[in-house]
Amino acid sequence: MRKINTRDFRIATRTTSRDINRRITLNLIREHQPISRADLARRMNVTRGIVSVLVQELMDQDVIYEGVTGETLRGRKPTFLHIRTHDRLAIAVDVRFSKTYLMLCDFAGRQLALETYDTIFSPSAFVKDLALRVRRMAKNKAFRAGCEGIGIVVPGMVDQRTGRILKAPALGWTGVDIRDRIVAMTGLPVQIENSARACALAQLWLERGDSRTHSFAYVTISDGVGVGVVINGELLRGHDYLAGEFGHLPLNVDGPRCMCGARGCWEAYTSNLAILSRYFGWDLSELSPKALRDSGKHPFSILELIELARAGDAKAVGALEASARFLGLGLATIVKAINPDCIYLSGEIMNGWDMIEPIVRKGLSERALTEAGARTPLRLTAAQDYPRLKGAAALIAAPTFAAPRVA
Ligand SMILES: [Zn+2]
Repeated sequence: MRKINTRDFRIATRTTSRDINRRITLNLIREHQPISRADLARRMNVTRGIVSVLVQELMDQDVIYEGVTGETLRGRKPTFLHIRTHDRLAIAVDVRFSKTYLMLCDFAGRQLALETYDTIFSPSAFVKDLALRVRRMAKNKAFRAGCEGIGIVVPGMVDQRTGRILKAPALGWTGVDIRDRIVAMTGLPVQIENSARACALAQLWLERGDSRTHSFAYVTISDGVGVGVVINGELLRGHDYLAGEFGHLPLNVDGPRCMCGARGCWEAYTSNLAILSRYFGWDLSELSPKALRDSGKHPFSILELIELARAGDAKAVGALEASARFLGLGLATIVKAINPDCIYLSGEIMNGWDMIEPIVRKGLSERALTEAGARTPLRLTAAQDYPRLKGAAALIAAPTFAAPRVA
């Protein structure tokens, strides 16, 4: 939904309405590409002439192109319009508690190069190292076409306008500004966002046609638990960038300590670290941040635990099933809070979905209040698709498209 502020007349200029129309056109092309001008005019309920002007402006900006000619029974053959994504590049960075992932990709999120390294917790060392890696990546042949920016996702709350990382408990970062330093050191535009929100943005950006959902939650389960919320096609950030922090809603106020410092958050029950703790008998409340970090780098991963469970290891099955129930209970909270069309789930634990699905659904229906709520579709995204990196790339690729807003 576009937000048009009827009380602020300063914004009601001719340029504004033109810009909105251009964004609407762009969004329609993205959703329905390849699409002809005639089809666009039908969908927008305007004349071909108006569409032609808007399309020409977008072509002049180089954001769309004309592709193959379509077939019609009679009359002029239409040419189809496409969003230009294949030769536009971005660098995507996913900073996690245990590892950092860096990918060079095109605007559709297709991977051209990928590196993984241990996360650097000192902000200034992180910035220096990142600048070095970006410079190295710039030597990649594909890079020569030009990279349009760096999208960084972090596990925490971010003021996305200023790029300030307000609080990322897993990184120990509070009020950290790294954006301008990275811009200065690389010469590229930089966008920073919460990982789950970026995933939700990418979902909006990459999904198209009839499979699109308008209100959904995107849940990422890794070292922590993040949730990105989209309502009526718009990413929800909240007044102070706190909206959607379901990972830190308590399931039990006396529960294990969470990385945010509070006790019993949903995250402390169902994150990868929580699952591993259950298996190894660690007490999350007793572990220091350093010990936690080391445990995140534990050679024994969640994927191995899933394999053990599959082979019938009772302890692994127990750890997985307990976490699955908590996952379902937390999903019920999301259903009750925003009642979305569907919930997307991503993270390594989804590799064991066939084993945990009935338990997750049972947990969900236990607390979802209504049958319809319990039936909320759960859709999985595969970890090997790097949804968080796609989210980071969408920060550079998608702003022009998603959530057109007059402000
Ligand atoms: Zn917490």
